[in-house]
Amino acid sequence: MKIIEKKCPNCGANLDFKVGEHDIVCKSCRRKYAVEYGDIDFDQLSKKAQDALGAADISLRPVRRMIIAIVIIFFAIVAIGTTISVINIANSRKNFDERVEESQREYERNSQEMMEKSQREYERRVQEMNESVK
Ligand SMILES: [Zn+2]
Repeated sequence: MKIIEKKCPNCGANLDFKVGEHDIVCKSCRRKYAVEYGDIDFDQLSKKAQDALGAADISLRPVRRMIIAIVIIFFAIVAIGTTISVINIANSRKNFDERVEESQREYERNSQEMMEKSQREYERRVQEMNESVK
């Protein structure tokens, strides 16, 4: 039996179907009919119900747009965060390498200075000894 009909099977009054409802109550005799999705013949839906469907769709559009925007913003934040992390890791790696090179140069400079200083000290002492022997 098709529940969605224009007339109430019990009293013959017009049935007013609201989209999204699972039960139809006849306004005339208060008889209640359960609605199964398969029972609904969408071609038979009144113009009013189709308008209601259209209105529901239009009213959902800003919500859909907001959800899409939130999803896009979420992924944008994740992408930006990932990019910043990668840049930070690359920078800290670069800084580390620069510090290692700087330490290396400083070590070589100090070693060179100490060797030259020792060499000068050695030569000075040799000269002192030579002068004392004369
Ligand atoms: Zn009725």
